[in-house]
Amino acid sequence: MYDQFDQICSRCPSCQNVTSRILSRYWRTLKVIPILTLSVILHVQSRKFFCDNTDYIQRIFNERHTAKMVLP
Ligand SMILES: [Zn+2]
Repeated sequence: MYDQFDQICSRCPSCQNVTSRILSRYWRTLKVIPILTLSVILHVQSRKFFCDNTDYIQRIFNERHTAKMVLP
């Protein structure tokens, strides 16, 4: 199962500044969900952002994802 988020911006976890400066993209495994005899693996494309706020030391951060699965 693959998911790709199309938000342009992300909020810096240190200063709450909203930035659209993307440094890189990568795929990561977010969750493995056992369904009956199968294992469903949720992959997301994640991004690293750069924050322009110079008041904080951490200026590079990974965007955060949350997974929610709804069964019928
Ligand atoms: Zn920041």
